[in-house]
Amino acid sequence: MECAAKGLVAEPCAGEANRRCNGCGAVAYCSRAHQLVHRRFHKQECARLAEQMSRVDTLKNFPFTFSVEPPAPNQTFPSPRCFFLESFKLHQKGLWKSECICGPEVTSVKDLSISTDWSMGSTLCPCTDPENYVSTPLTSWKDYYRWRSLPLHSPVAVLLHWPLTLYHCVQLSHLQTSRLDGQDTLCIHYLGPEKELHQLVVFGELRALFPGVRLYIELVGPAVPKSRDGEVITISNYGHCSAGSCSCKSRIDSKDLSCSAVIFKLRKGLYHERYSDIVKDSNPHLIVAPNAGVAAYPSWMPTIEIIRKVGIPAIFTDFCEEAAHLASSCISSITGQPLRVPIQGSL
Ligand SMILES: [Zn+2]
Ligand SMILES: [Zn+2]
Ligand SMILES: [Zn+2]
Ligand SMILES: [Zn+2]
Ligand SMILES: [Zn+2]
Repeated sequence: MECAAKGLVAEPCAGEANRRCNGCGAVAYCSRAHQLVHRRFHKQECARLAEQMSRVDTLKNFPFTFSVEPPAPNQTFPSPRCFFLESFKLHQKGLWKSECICGPEVTSVKDLSISTDWSMGSTLCPCTDPENYVSTPLTSWKDYYRWRSLPLHSPVAVLLHWPLTLYHCVQLSHLQTSRLDGQDTLCIHYLGPEKELHQLVVFGELRALFPGVRLYIELVGPAVPKSRDGEVITISNYGHCSAGSCSCKSRIDSKDLSCSAVIFKLRKGLYHERYSDIVKDSNPHLIVAPNAGVAAYPSWMPTIEIIRKVGIPAIFTDFCEEAAHLASSCISSITGQPLRVPIQGSL
């Protein structure tokens, strides 16, 4: 941890920040002197952070049996993420390529090649239609893994959090997908995509989650390469497993899913700059901004302004509870209304 007073005072830190605040345990200091300097700022947040810390166990409570905290990285695998992937023999493979620091930078890649390969055995990844469709809404990773007959040591959740976050947002917004049939389209505006642009095939899972529904998703963000602006990409299969004989390569759709597809349209730029073009093509049922970093990027403000004006339901997610707290303060200051913050959003 870094000393919380770093940068606030002229005198440099006196080594490692080993002194945790007794009140919350969420911040640490290098010295008593730095703790005293920081008190003025910290006293406004200490109680809130303490409350958040009391929920850490709930938020960290994943059912997976793979180790979330891998051993210290070594020279061959410089980051914990690389090391984690290597422990599954997935480092730099297929869909996992953009998961680590060795992978391609989204913005520097002119050609968004879409990898379709899970690079895993068929029992470890969802590469074919589910045996049955979801009858009651899934509320946890455990539900999801059970439904898809995946073992809890499979790391696919690391990539599937993209489509499952969308699934969860649709649940939260109470859109009536059951009333949508094959003719209907669920339209989502998805703001600020980054590395998921290299992993679009994982969104094919939405076909299994919303059988018979056509999903039309506008991907709008500065990371979309300029050369791909306006491109339409249709995903009508799942990521493939590594077994040559598996039926996932034969592409015979089951009857229920023949009309299901996920259709993406790519738009380069910020939402409020592109909004008038985008709504010529589609009026969204829902706007989603995953891992938005609202408090960190002022360019969200005019976007939030637009969303407030058009009155379409919007869901922002952020990296941690404190980021979500700061984001909700920013959004409320624009809308003048308190925000609903459903912290424990299961998936
Ligand atoms: Zn310090
Ligand atoms: Zn504290
Ligand atoms: Zn790597
Ligand atoms: Zn993520
Ligand atoms: Zn397969």
